[in-house]
Amino acid sequence: PDISLAEMMQDAVREHRKRTALEFFGAETSYGEVGERIARVAGGLRRLGVRAGDRVALVLPNCPEHVIAFYAVLRLGAIVVEHNPLYTARELRHQFEDHGAQVAIVWDKTADTVAAFPADVRPARIIAVDITRSMRASTRLALRLPLPKARASRTALTAKPTARGVLSWEKLADSSRLPRRHPFPAASDTALLQYTSGTTGSPKGVILSHRNLLANAIQGRAWVPGLEVGREVFYGVLPFFHAYGMTLCLTFAMSIGARLVLFPKFDIDLVLTAARKSPPTFLPAVPPIYDQLARAAGRRGADLSTVRFAISGAMNLPVSTVTAWEQVTGGLLVEGYGMTESSPVALGNPIGPSRRPGTVGVPFPSTDIRVVDPDDPDVDVAPGEPGELLLKGPQVFGGYWNRPTETAETLLEGGWLRTGDIVTVAADGFVTIVDRRKELIITGGFNVSPSEVESVLLLHPDIDAAAVIGLPRPSGGEDVAAAVVLREGARLDVAGVRDFAKSHLAAYKVPKHIVERDELPRSLIGKVLRKRVRDELIAERA
Ligand code: ATP
Ligand code: MG
Repeated sequence: PDISLAEMMQDAVREHRKRTALEFFGAETSYGEVGERIARVAGGLRRLGVRAGDRVALVLPNCPEHVIAFYAVLRLGAIVVEHNPLYTARELRHQFEDHGAQVAIVWDKTADTVAAFPADVRPARIIAVDITRSMRASTRLALRLPLPKARASRTALTAKPTARGVLSWEKLADSSRLPRRHPFPAASDTALLQYTSGTTGSPKGVILSHRNLLANAIQGRAWVPGLEVGREVFYGVLPFFHAYGMTLCLTFAMSIGARLVLFPKFDIDLVLTAARKSPPTFLPAVPPIYDQLARAAGRRGADLSTVRFAISGAMNLPVSTVTAWEQVTGGLLVEGYGMTESSPVALGNPIGPSRRPGTVGVPFPSTDIRVVDPDDPDVDVAPGEPGELLLKGPQVFGGYWNRPTETAETLLEGGWLRTGDIVTVAADGFVTIVDRRKELIITGGFNVSPSEVESVLLLHPDIDAAAVIGLPRPSGGEDVAAAVVLREGARLDVAGVRDFAKSHLAAYKVPKHIVERDELPRSLIGKVLRKRVRDELIAERA
């Protein structure tokens, strides 16, 4: 259906009125109640002056208020701008400078930070959500499981604690309802500005329409066999401020009348406790989460066998993780691929015995792909050869906010999206991600894929995590270098690790430099930030 997400939500509210939509620390909110609160918050926002096309910033972890605020903004035809509440003051300020939202709905711990922005960046209205209170209202358990700590930021510390003009969420949620006849946005209107992860540069604001987001939810439905409308239990452990969690947890769950269990952060105890009350059936997550859950379930005998759909994405899924998860739960763990610019999912493994670990599967319905010369996207590579992946489909974005040059470079004529990822496609159509174009290491004549070297290092019994990068040589070209995290009790034996790598890799791929780290820098959804590792190694060498 070519409708807005706001109308989709209204339909879900009507159809599933009595069913539980949201569960948070044990407290349940029905679809009917969610619909009522959306109407009130939308009414309140309208009275604050929010109009169709305005941007409204959300700086919130996953919680019921986040879901309600999201749909209330959309109901008005305004644009949601998502933010990571754990970003530093500087990172948040950059984003606010970029999108210029005049209204912000924020976790109270970040309210002072936002209120202390310079006058030309500070939103005119800031609404603070006291999530601890909403947790406490839910259950005593919540008190023992703290929220992620807001990162201390210099701005926050110097800000006056009682920032003027900060309103409380309760007040907004007490407003009178938006009239039913208020017009809905069109499917082609912008719904969301979602920032990319900032793995290769600073985060870019991706413009996604209602149609983009709804298309991806509908494609997702075609992907997952045997989903039962009104009966699934989704676990929202991935943050909604990232495209993956936004679509696969939030909009997907609401579009099929599922119960969505919300987690303000991923926490093993929280997940296993919730699982006793509402066993999960659908769990989209990232490899480090599956690893931790499989380990915990193995140790404590927790039952995760109710998870029928475990879907991994955002980063390479090691086959060892698949094996561990499937042994412990008895279910399947399948990998998909996507990016913020494609709402995000574009490829997925079949969910069934024909899925193939190590690949990201095949294109989603209505999604076309091409594999082209990375230096000349007009030229397709020969079948089976590595090249840059291009995507086309209803989930592909409309452009970057305020970035015409990057938009022109990324969105090609004919609607093709340049992914920046190098892939190969097997004869039967299964796609394997080789690496990001920008992260391939140029050693002099040969390109080295850091992922390939990392996967070999991970086979070494002492190595728990690895990041491989190219260290620029003064003479030009790059040396392969690795930062590794060792397993507990192990000691780094550089020569031993290099010998091990030599037995699996051509000589030019073997890391010349290997350094030890306590942990690797990761994005907040767990992606290793190779760029940061590279910067650190360059700085250390200097
Ligand atoms: P930025 O664009 O700001 O540099 P980012 O590309 O990491 O950051 P996202 O949109 O969150 O931001 O991530 C999309 C990227 O994630 C893809 O381009 C791809 O490199 C990577 N990715 C997604 N799924 C997979 C997967 N299954 N295996 C390997 N890489 C993946
Ligand atoms: Mg990207």
